[in-house]
Amino acid sequence: MKVLITGGAGFIGSHLSELLLKDEETQVTVIDSLSTGKYRNVQALTGHPNYRLIVAPVTDTSLLEPLVADCDHVYHLAAAVGVRRIIEQPVDTIETNILGTEAVLSLAAKYHKKVLIASTSEVYGKNTKVPFKEEDDSVFGATTKSRWSYACSKAIDEFLALAYNKEKGLPVVIVRFFNTVGPRQTGRYGMVIPNLVRQALKEQPLTVYGDGRQSRCFTHVRDSIRCQKALMNEPRAVGEVFNLGSQEEVTIERLAQRILELTGSKSELQYIPYEEAYESGFEDMRRRVPDTSKVRALLGFAPDSHLDDILKDVIAYFREHPELH
Ligand code: UDP
Repeated sequence: MKVLITGGAGFIGSHLSELLLKDEETQVTVIDSLSTGKYRNVQALTGHPNYRLIVAPVTDTSLLEPLVADCDHVYHLAAAVGVRRIIEQPVDTIETNILGTEAVLSLAAKYHKKVLIASTSEVYGKNTKVPFKEEDDSVFGATTKSRWSYACSKAIDEFLALAYNKEKGLPVVIVRFFNTVGPRQTGRYGMVIPNLVRQALKEQPLTVYGDGRQSRCFTHVRDSIRCQKALMNEPRAVGEVFNLGSQEEVTIERLAQRILELTGSKSELQYIPYEEAYESGFEDMRRRVPDTSKVRALLGFAPDSHLDDILKDVIAYFREHPELH
């Protein structure tokens, strides 16, 4: 089995590479621009006989074409991520997400290769339904609010993947990640758990945006990659969209308190209005909970890890890597 992972030096892609390489028959090629992906994430893999890292943007089709032609499966994880980055670099977000996916899908169609498309719970936008089922509506805010460019770009990716499946028979599997967290995720792009853990370890105030009553369900990257692999190897997943996440819901305020308890930090919570944290008119979702019955029915999959497992692993990671503080 030859696997191509776009964005494979990123947080999720590097864990996925390690999992797939456990099978001695699997060869992994990664293409990553190292813009948000990091060499240190894959440094330990670089000597592996079945591993290859190519540093290039996924939109470089002359480089991408032979890689797609030569593989069996493509995991398309290359994307612009993180709410902070999306607000600061909207052009790059839209172009990376739409042009990158278009490049991967058109080449996969040319060579008839199976593709997993990494999508996001952001595609539900500000729909207030709890929990979200895969068929629920996408509800986006105005185009003047740049946060929604991420959700829209990922929704276009999904439309395009489903169109390739319907019109050209391309085998695609679409997976919507719900707040995936674990070691190697950096706080640089705004993600809450690495941010708050770093702050707690440095005895700085923990920045809780808004009133802290908004909630999320956090998924351990270990569970996420296990499920991605199983979906990719399941013929009945082709042409389908799946929520991938935990259903353990926590408010951001409670999350911050738990991080203080687990680190033993003496820091305090600092409530910061959204317009200060991001930009004026910023819109957040109050709750975001997946209905995971579809993936459970197909694969019998449910996450093994709980929020405390995630927090302990992230805390241990930052303790081991003080240079990342
Ligand atoms: N958040 C926070 N403090 C931070 C970073 C994020 O309170 O330092 C909040 C953010 O406003 C959101 C939640 O935590 O309500 C999750 O944010 P994240 O960027 O991790 O993921 P999102 O769910 O927004 O994609």
